[in-house]
Amino acid sequence: MRTPLIAGNWKMNNTLVEARELMTGITEGIDDVTASVERITGVEILVCPPVHLLFPMAKAIAGTPIKMGAQDGHYETSGAFTGEVSMPMIKETGATHVIVGHSERRQYFGEDGPLLAKKVRAAIKAGLTAVYCVGETLADRESDRTRDVIEKHMTGVIASDIPADRLVIAYEPVWAIGTGKTATPEQAQAVHAHIRSLLSSIYDSSTANSVRILYGGSVKPGNSAGLMAQPDIDGALVGGACLSASDFVCIIRSAALSAVSSS
Ligand code: PEP
Repeated sequence: MRTPLIAGNWKMNNTLVEARELMTGITEGIDDVTASVERITGVEILVCPPVHLLFPMAKAIAGTPIKMGAQDGHYETSGAFTGEVSMPMIKETGATHVIVGHSERRQYFGEDGPLLAKKVRAAIKAGLTAVYCVGETLADRESDRTRDVIEKHMTGVIASDIPADRLVIAYEPVWAIGTGKTATPEQAQAVHAHIRSLLSSIYDSSTANSVRILYGGSVKPGNSAGLMAQPDIDGALVGGACLSASDFVCIIRSAALSAVSSS
C-alpha cells in the first residue's frame, strides 16, 4: 500500500514573516486533524518553499511530521553557475525532496528531457527524493497527444538506474495549473494508470506499484476527495491552495480520510 503524499509548492511566494505564519497555521491544523482522523500518520506532508526559506523552514518543521523540499536544483555539485543552487546544497538545509521538471521550469526556463534527466540523477546522488513532474498542455490534450507527451516526459528521464524508492511522479496537466480548471478524477486516473504502466515497463510491476504518483493542477479542498479516491492517485502537488493553511490542511485531511476508507 502506498502512503499518500500531499506536497505544497509555494513557488515564488512568502516572506520570512509570512512563511512562519503559514507554517504555524499548518502545524496547528495538522494537530487538529490528528485528533479527528485516526490515521493522519498515514499521510506524508511536504512543503516546498523558495530557496531563501529552506533553512528557517527546516527549523519551523523540527518536531513535526512535515518534510521539506526545494522547488528546483542544479545538476552540478558546485561551480561557476551564478544564481543556481546545487542538490547537495539543498540537502544541507535539511530538505529531503526536490521538485524537478515543474511545467513552469519547462515553460519559462526551457528545461527539457536531457537536462531533467541530469537533475533527477543529481538529486538522487545527493540523497534527495525527486518529485518529477510530467504533463501535457491544452493543445496537446486537444490534439489527442496526452499519452505521447507523458511517454516522452517519462522515457527520456526515468530509467531503471533511478532507485524507485527515491522517486515520486507528479502528473500536472499544464492547462490545470493555476487556472482553476481541474482534470476530472476520471481524466486524471486514466493518465495515472498510463504512467504506472510506463513505470512497469521501466522497472517491473511490483516496483511500479510502489511508486507514488501525485496529481497536481488546481487541487482545492472542494475537489481533493474525488481525486484522492482514485486507485492510482497517491496524493497531490498543490500550488495556490497550499498558501492557505486551512485549505492545505483540508486537502491533507481528505487524503487521510481516503487512506482510512481504502484500508
Ligand atoms: C503547481 O504549481 O504544481 C500547481 C499544481 O499549482 P496549482 O495548484 O495552483 O494549480
